[in-house]
Amino acid sequence: MKKRKLKKAVIVYLVLMMLIGASVFVFVQKNGKVPSNEKEEEKYPKEIEEKLAKLNHPEKELNYFNLNYLDRYLSYQKSNPSLNVEDIITRVNIGLDNKYYTNTSVSPYLNTNYLLVNKYISLGEDYIPDDLVTVDDCVVTYKKIELVSEAKDAFLKLCHKAKEDGFTIRVMSSYRSYDYQKQLYQNYVDSDGMEEADTYSARPGFSEHQTGLTIDVDNAKVTYTDFEKTNEFKWMIENAHRFGFILRYPKDKEHITGYSYESWHYRYVGVDIATYIHEHNITFDEYYVRFIENKMEY
Ligand SMILES: [Zn+2]
Repeated sequence: MKKRKLKKAVIVYLVLMMLIGASVFVFVQKNGKVPSNEKEEEKYPKEIEEKLAKLNHPEKELNYFNLNYLDRYLSYQKSNPSLNVEDIITRVNIGLDNKYYTNTSVSPYLNTNYLLVNKYISLGEDYIPDDLVTVDDCVVTYKKIELVSEAKDAFLKLCHKAKEDGFTIRVMSSYRSYDYQKQLYQNYVDSDGMEEADTYSARPGFSEHQTGLTIDVDNAKVTYTDFEKTNEFKWMIENAHRFGFILRYPKDKEHITGYSYESWHYRYVGVDIATYIHEHNITFDEYYVRFIENKMEY
């Protein structure tokens, strides 16, 4: 009799506990989720809401939308009415609504493949990449060619595969120090003037060659400025991304990269990023603001 009573009490206790658990669960579901959504929609003051509406509420769709730039987005939209919202936000985030070499900062991604260098992001005077190594295969022989070790290994794989396919690709320029770039840029300014020099040469500290992740290539037959006309160029366009390289300054992207088209200039970013950029026909600048910058804390 006693035993039976105890058993009954245990069952009642268990059922009660289950009921309490279930109702707590329902309560959390109801009160946790629904109101927070409502809150989100009423987050901004009316004035900001109206501005967001002009951009079709990018804050809901694009995680690289930056509320601090809202007025810049709107004025860029005004002067570029044919651009879609995604491009407006991307370009303002790159800094393209500012003049070149204004509002510049030093990259927070030194010594990583995420390292973007352009006319708004520099490397600084003192930056020398860690892990620079000499490349002595697939290069012109009269120059010292240095790359970051990971980029060197990737390039040698690329070069050997190209050779297997019947093509010659060699590096004629790679890492350049700050001082070397300073001298190079000054020579161009002296002969062509600053405005012209800025279209094809980087100011010291702003050259991608200072990253040690960049190569200028030729096919050992024609001058590098004619690389575009070669079969090696076609091979590079089809295959470079498989080895982690991208054509960094493509044709018709001058307004985004800030540089004239350079068929010979490739940048190592790693296979995943290179493949995405290749498949989506975007520049590294665009990739950076969409996928790298907003991740923060790397
Ligand atoms: Zn170059």
